Order: sequence, then structure tokens, then C-alpha cells
Amino acid sequence: MALAEGRLVKVSEALRMGDGERVVVRGWVYRFRDLGEKVFLVLRDSTGIIQVVVGGESAERARAADVEASVVVEGVVRSDPRAPGGKEISATSVTVVGPSKGFPIARDLSREFLLDVRHLWVRSRRMQAVLKIRHTVFGALHEYFRGRGYYEVQAPMFITAAVEGGATLFPTRYVDGSTVYLTQSSQFYLEALIFSLEKVYTVAPSFRAEKSRTRRHLTEFWHCEAEEAWATLDDIMRVEEELVWHVIDRVLESNQEELKLLGRDPRPLEACKPPFYRLTYDEALELLERKGFKVHWGDDLGADEERALVEEFDKPVFVHRYPVKAKAFYHKSDPKRPEVTLSADLLAPEGYGEIIGGGERIDSLDELLQKLRDFGLQPKDYEWYIDLRRYGSVPHSGFGLGIDRLVMWIAGLDHIVDAVAFPRTLRRVYP
Ligand code: ATP
Ligand code: MG
Repeated sequence: MALAEGRLVKVSEALRMGDGERVVVRGWVYRFRDLGEKVFLVLRDSTGIIQVVVGGESAERARAADVEASVVVEGVVRSDPRAPGGKEISATSVTVVGPSKGFPIARDLSREFLLDVRHLWVRSRRMQAVLKIRHTVFGALHEYFRGRGYYEVQAPMFITAAVEGGATLFPTRYVDGSTVYLTQSSQFYLEALIFSLEKVYTVAPSFRAEKSRTRRHLTEFWHCEAEEAWATLDDIMRVEEELVWHVIDRVLESNQEELKLLGRDPRPLEACKPPFYRLTYDEALELLERKGFKVHWGDDLGADEERALVEEFDKPVFVHRYPVKAKAFYHKSDPKRPEVTLSADLLAPEGYGEIIGGGERIDSLDELLQKLRDFGLQPKDYEWYIDLRRYGSVPHSGFGLGIDRLVMWIAGLDHIVDAVAFPRTLRRVYP
């Protein structure tokens, strides 16, 4: 179509332009008001919204533009204190590019319905804001690791043995008829790669057949994992807190507008400068007991306990040295106290709870074989992993960060499905 005279600009640019400038903007009809003589459109593109006033002959054409129709508008920028952003475009022409008869998102805004039409709801200003924050988060994760000498690596998604316990494995039939699984974590492959690259990380999906419905579990989630040769538990906790702060700092720098649109108070995030708090599992249990929770020594902390615990802190808190039986088999025991592991979970404040699990991995062949037996696992299922302890084993540590949970917390969302464009959960694989 002819883009006469006016300069083609994004909405955000038009909002910054002086009165009288001729522009062409392309976008979607966000809101629509027909006042007879004049039609008021609010036009949306990836950068923002702007009011468009259409009169005269063009009003007829604008009237044909339903909510979410795509349009090209030509006109003149004018100040109007009543318009969102203080500017509007007085249109000289409106062209409907793609009509949108009966856009389904109108009255029913229930969570279930919005999940059914997620392919359309991703256009909403809320989702747009979350997706922009998510973009910053992913970029900042890469930036952190790449700036500190970690190599980015990729692990396979088809695997043959559990990392995090059999209960949440996704079996799938492989080409040769055998059963393989979708990976629950790339950790073991990252461990293999530290013998080559020493400091490695990956950003990849992990799959877990989570059987219970919670606000913080997806069946397919994005996992940022790192593994480092020679690193101790203390070393890796320092990496984790620096990483989390780096991500938050970038979001505070780039996404103030989005945080505001989501109603997210940035102050609790601004407070999250390292060092974070550190609490042993035993200390956590004492604190919980004082708050009326009875946790049996040896059990993992559940979401309710984590929530109660983080209430006491104004920034993230590490709970370290979990009991052996509360954690997966690969965690190294504390030589000073073998019934606890050199592990740590990082819990986010404001009720969010666990966002990272990590710690020191077993590096001795004997300890690993013993642990596999104690956990009722078959060493033959873990042959290649055991090999890593046979050939030049080194002390090493690592962690896994749930990126969707991190986004959920940073954006202040109350459900993890709202932190991702197309969530996969116990009951949903569509759209
Ligand atoms: P939880 O106890 O909450 O199920 P986990 O102990 O199983 O977590 P890890 O195995 O330590 O979690 O995984 C590392 C991180 O991956 C977690 O801290 C969390 O942020 C994220 N994560 C784990 N499972 C899920 C899931 N089903 N959906 C989204 N994120 C997850
Ligand atoms: Mg779990």
C-alpha cells in the first residue's frame, strides 16, 4: 500500500514527536469508540499505545476496524492532555489490513478462558509486559555467564536415566522401540563438560511430569544450569547471588514501564543486593517451629514452609545443608557431618520460595556407588556418570535456576503460567 508523505514510525516514537508532524503508524486496534462524527481508536504496536482520532471520510473506514484488526494510520501528531501518553494522531487516512470480526476476548476474562485463547491473549498489554521482562531476564543470564568465563553448552533432551527421581519422568518411545525420557535437568551432561571446559552453563527446557497442581510447577520449564570445576558450595552460592542480582538489576534498568504496568512495586527488588541471607536447614527448622510449623528432620521443605520462612527476610535467603534423604543422590555429604549434604536452595522473598537448587556434587567413586545403592538405584543405569569419577575426578559444584519462577517473582505474578507465553501444565498442552 502507498505510504504517502508521513514518516513511518513506531508508536513510542510518535508519542515523543512534536505537534504537526506527519506520521504513518502500523498496529492493531486496542480500543474502539464510535462517537458518531468521530471515531476514536487506540492503536497498539509492540512499543506502546496511542490514541487516533478519525473524522470525515476516513471515519467510515475506521468504523470497519474491529478490536484487534490490523491497521495502517496516516495522520498528524497533536498534543492532547486527555490522551494516554499526552499525544494523539489526527488521522487523514485509515487502512484496515487484516479485519478482526468477533475477536473472542471480550467479557470472559477468567484464567481458564484466557489460557484457552493464549495464542490471542499474548497480545494483551500484561502479557506483552511480562514477555519483555522475560526477554531481559534471558539476555541477562547469558550476559552474566559470558562475561565471567563460562562456556555456553547444550545437552540432549532425550535421556535414558533419571536425574531428579523417577516419579516425574516423561517416558517416550524412541525410534528403535526402546523407552527413553525427556530430560529433567541437563546437570549430568554439564558435569561431563566441566572436564573439558571447566566452567559451563546452559539455558534449556527441562521436563517433569509434575502430578500435583501448584502455582509454581510447569511440566515444561526453562532451566538455567551451571556447573563449575573446583568450586565449593560457598563459591557456587556466591555465583548464584551475583547472577540473580545481575538479572534484577538489568530488569530495573530496562523494564520500569513494564513493572509499572503490571503493578509491580520495584522496591523489594531494589533491596536484593548481595550478599543474600544464609541459613542452615537446622536453623530454618527452628525458625519454622517458632512460627508453628512442625517439620520432621529429614523432610524437604514444602511451598508452605518456604513461604513462612521467607516472610522473615527482605531479600533472598539460602537454606543450606539439607539432610541426605531430602535431596537427590548426587549431592555430596558434608565431611564434617555426613547426615547433611553440601547443598543449598535459594528462596525468593515475598512468598515466592525456591528458585534455585544447587550445591557440591559427589566427586568420589566410592561415595557415589554407595549413594546409588542407598537410594535403591542401579549403577548400570548411571555408567557414564560414574565414569566421570573414574577419570580425573575433581571437586565441583553447580546449580539449576528455574527461569519461569524467576520471571514470576520479578514480575510479581501470582501464578507461574503467567510468566510464560505458552505454558505446559498437568492439564494443559494447548495452545
Ligand atoms: P520443587 O521442590 O519446587 O519441585 P525441585 O527441588 O524439584 O523444586 P530442582 O530439582 O532443584 O527443583 O530444580 C532446580 C530449579 O528448577 C528449581 O529451584 C525451580 O526453580 C525449577 N523447577 C523445578 N521444577 C520445576 C517445575 N516443575 N516448573 C518450574 N520450575 C521448576
Ligand atoms: Mg520438584
